[in-house]
Amino acid sequence: MNSTFLADLRQIIGDSHVLVDGDLTGYEQDWRKRYRGKALAVVRPGTTEQVAAVVRLCADQRVSIVPQGGNTGLVGGSVPDHSGQQILLNLGRLNRIREVDAINFTLTAEAGCILETVQQAAAAQNLLFPLSMASQGSCTVGGNLASNAGGTQVLRYGNARDLCLGLEVVTARGEIWSGLSGLRKDNSGYDLRHLFIGSEGTLGVITAATLKLYPQPAARCTALVAASDLQAIVAIFRRAQDALASGLTAFEIMSEAALALVETHFPQVPQALGRAPWKVLIELSDQEGADHAKGLFERFLEGVIDEGLASDAAIAQSHDQSSKLWHLRESIPLAQAQEGLNIKHDISLPISRIAEYVAHTDSLLNHRFPGARLVTFGHLGDGNLHYNVQAPIGVDTASFLEKNELEVNRIVYDAVSALGGSISAEHGIGQLKVLELPRYKSAVAIGLMHAIKQALDPVGLMNPGRVLSIDNNQCGVAP
Ligand code: FAD
Repeated sequence: MNSTFLADLRQIIGDSHVLVDGDLTGYEQDWRKRYRGKALAVVRPGTTEQVAAVVRLCADQRVSIVPQGGNTGLVGGSVPDHSGQQILLNLGRLNRIREVDAINFTLTAEAGCILETVQQAAAAQNLLFPLSMASQGSCTVGGNLASNAGGTQVLRYGNARDLCLGLEVVTARGEIWSGLSGLRKDNSGYDLRHLFIGSEGTLGVITAATLKLYPQPAARCTALVAASDLQAIVAIFRRAQDALASGLTAFEIMSEAALALVETHFPQVPQALGRAPWKVLIELSDQEGADHAKGLFERFLEGVIDEGLASDAAIAQSHDQSSKLWHLRESIPLAQAQEGLNIKHDISLPISRIAEYVAHTDSLLNHRFPGARLVTFGHLGDGNLHYNVQAPIGVDTASFLEKNELEVNRIVYDAVSALGGSISAEHGIGQLKVLELPRYKSAVAIGLMHAIKQALDPVGLMNPGRVLSIDNNQCGVAP
């Protein structure tokens, strides 16, 4: 890198958008406060052309780039390393909704648009953008696609990948690929968007996306159901699929330990129903109206109580009550963050094996780490568990993590692998799981990933050391 690098950056995007001084913690530290790096500069371009010019300069000077959206990622992918030699490319100023096409059911948004803003822009046309998660007030479209985010409505609408029809990307060479197609059918060669979706900033910079919209459901109905064991919950899920069919939109489980953390840290959040080992939040979207939805839901719930699968259930009677149930669910990751560092596992399994997995792995962990709290919750309807391990009460969370993380991960991930699951359901690999990946993916799969990386980013400019290990990085940046 030559001495005029920062001056050249300022020339491209303006002095005030190249940050080097002051408190940059909000950019350089991840949401969980687990990773903190030091950027050469935080760079905030305002247009796609500026992004391309910045990437060309970086390619020329061999300066590596860490793309960042809302910095809500949970695997340390959006913060720089400690070298002080990487730029942090924050996309927050690319925040325009470029178009809503209500006839084509599409919306084109720039990468830095906040997810909630996109949802609101769709709702303003009486349409629905269904990607939804607790971080939606801060996370961005670019980050959602780069991490192929899931969230709470995957069951009905799919994950971020399923909701994206086209992309605009700045390649690692600084070219602009304009692939903002709103087509549902396009078999004209390799589908390039799928390379960039889920690539966690390692192949190029997403600058805009064309997203799928849906009709707003005529009614939504939410219920909370209590059950004594996971096998019963899985059976309730099966019954829900039969009874509610494609209207079944969310099926979110919460363990007693997860809800206890909410009670401790957010006592003001109402906890519905009495104590139970498991609770599940179920949402139905219905095109035939509120009475139809409620009738359907009541019959379904009566059935699972009569069968002895559910011990208790309550249907939200108003929008306000439904929001409170969702608030309870969404408070779990926030309560965990308040409790201190924990060993997070975002895993997926065949739904038919989930009860067996949890019983087996709980028992291994309880035996090896007596008193450790197993905070399990997540999107059971997608086979996705957040299977988190928190230090025993009274034990320092940071030292528990430092001492035991590797061993805990081995137990959790080996059991996932044995049942045909994945070590990352929706959060990605980032730096958190980069060393785990080769253990659980075949050598062929890892080889193909390296080949794609080499083809699209031959000098290893883009987010080095994330997803794939740094061996091939030619920027010479330490991991
Ligand atoms: P960032 O954190 O900034 O970046 C994430 C990754 O994408 C990084 O590797 C980064 O380099 C890359 N990236 C960002 N922008 C771009 C771009 N424009 N081009 C190329 N690469 C880019 N995730 C879920 O999937 N489901 C959930 O239910 C969920 N719930 C959450 C709840 C809470 C409270 C929190 C804090 C997080 C949650 N997350 C969830 C994780 C996180 O919000 C998502 O992964 C989200 O998609 C990240 O978006 P972001 O804009 O914050 O991206």
